[in-house]
Amino acid sequence: MARRPFIGGNWKMNTDLATGKVLARTIAAEWGADVSRAEVVVFPPFPYLESVGQEIGLSSVALGAQDLSSEANGARTGEVSAEMLCDMGVRWVLVGHSERRHRLGESDALVAEKLAMALESGLQVVLCVGENLQQRHAGRTHEVVGLQLRSAFAQVPEEAVARIVIAYEPVWAIGTGVAATATDALEAHHEIRAFMSSRYDSELASSIRIVYGGSLVPGNAKTIFAAPGVDGGLVGGASLKAADFLSICSSAVIGIEAGRTGDSA
Ligand code: PEP
Repeated sequence: MARRPFIGGNWKMNTDLATGKVLARTIAAEWGADVSRAEVVVFPPFPYLESVGQEIGLSSVALGAQDLSSEANGARTGEVSAEMLCDMGVRWVLVGHSERRHRLGESDALVAEKLAMALESGLQVVLCVGENLQQRHAGRTHEVVGLQLRSAFAQVPEEAVARIVIAYEPVWAIGTGVAATATDALEAHHEIRAFMSSRYDSELASSIRIVYGGSLVPGNAKTIFAAPGVDGGLVGGASLKAADFLSICSSAVIGIEAGRTGDSA
C-alpha cells in the first residue's frame, strides 16, 4: 500500500498569538478541506496549542506539540505531560528533535522514555534522528543514526510502530539554509528502512513513513521529495509563511508521486 505523504510544520519558539492564529487559519482554509492528499500537522508553541486547535477546527490539518515530559505527572516544574496534550486536542508530538538533543542535552535514553510515554498515551509521534556535521565528516552518519534508532525502538512493540513517523534530520541542515541533497536523503532513508526491517520485518519497514527535515523550502522540496523512500518533510523556518508551507505540502504530493515509480523500498 502506498504511504501517505506527511508534512509537519515545526514553528519552534516563533510566532505570537495573533500571527500563530492567522497562520493556522490560512493553512486550514487552504489545505484543510482535503483529507486525501497529504497528512499535514502543525506544531505551534505550547501556549498557543488551544488557540491554534480552534483555528484548525475540524479541518484535516492536525495539531501537534513540540515536546512532552517523560513523566505522567508530578513534581516536574515547567514540563507538559502527554495527558495535558491530549486534553488540548493534540494528536501528534515531536520527540528527539535535534535542538532538544544537542542544545538542551536530551540523551537517547530520555528520547526513548518520551517516545514510550507518547505511545502509551495514544499520541502519534514524529521521531527525529540525524547526525551532526562532525559525525558526517567522520563517515559516522549510519552508525549515529543507527544508535539513535536502536535506543528509541528497543522497547516499542510492533503494533505501536504505525503511530510513528521517522524524521531524518541531519543536524547540519537544520536552520542553516543548507539542505541535504536528494541523494543524501535517499541513502539515509534507505538505511533507516533497512534498520526497521531488521528490528521488525520487511512489511513493517515498507509501511513506515520516513520524512526528511532540514532547510526545506519551496525551491528544493520537489526534488528532495522525488527521492525514492522520502515520504514527506518536517519543515521549520519555511512553515512560518503560509504560502511557502502550502507550496511544500503540494510538492510532497507531486514529488512523492513522481518518485514512487523508482521506489523499491
Ligand atoms: C526543523 O526544525 O525540524 C527543521 C527542519 O528546521 P528548518 O526547516 O528551519 O531547517
